[in-house]
Amino acid sequence: MKGSKNKKLIVILLGPPGSGKGTQAKLLQKKFKLEYLGSGDILRQRRKRGDFTGKKLIKVMTRGELVPSFVISKLLTDKLEKLKNLPKINGFILDGWARILTEAELIDESLDWYEWQKNVKAILIDISDRESFDRLTKRRICKDCGRLIPWVGEFKSPRRCDKCGGPLVSRADDKPRAIKKRLEEFKEETKPVIDYYKKQGRLIKINGKQSIEDVFKDILKALKK
Ligand SMILES: [Zn+2]
Repeated sequence: MKGSKNKKLIVILLGPPGSGKGTQAKLLQKKFKLEYLGSGDILRQRRKRGDFTGKKLIKVMTRGELVPSFVISKLLTDKLEKLKNLPKINGFILDGWARILTEAELIDESLDWYEWQKNVKAILIDISDRESFDRLTKRRICKDCGRLIPWVGEFKSPRRCDKCGGPLVSRADDKPRAIKKRLEEFKEETKPVIDYYKKQGRLIKINGKQSIEDVFKDILKALKK
């Protein structure tokens, strides 16, 4: 079905913080040559602008608070509008946008508006609270290139980025207090999102407590169905 116009693959990635969503997104992106729309990356870009919203985002995100849906929605639709101008795309991945039910509904509205409502798959990478906390407190980010080094059960304690050699640090929003807050928020707010996709029969649940390779294999298997 490659190249067929209405066979674009749109993946909505769901999962608690630290579930390895970002890593799986990169693998999917490479495999199917998809565009990657990560809310984390886009928000971090947005804060650099230094205007009112940019400065406020720094404050809100450092405290581990939820960025309001209208800001999220605006950033997403700006990106979707840009995708419409690309001559050819195979599809795209939405990573970290549907944090609450309102946003899941807004995403559906946006996908309808931009005529991408077909072939939307919601993939949940499922891990426990404990696993999530461990992974978040132990993962590192490269100070120079921003590469995120995930922790997945084995602790190698790398000191330098394997890509550029830059120093590795904890991410500013990975402090234990902020993490606890994010996990609580996830539990409370993302459950309705998961139920929403489940009710529509669009949810693909993947066991996230496996190696990166095995999680990816399970995703590919589920996408084929
Ligand atoms: Zn680096």
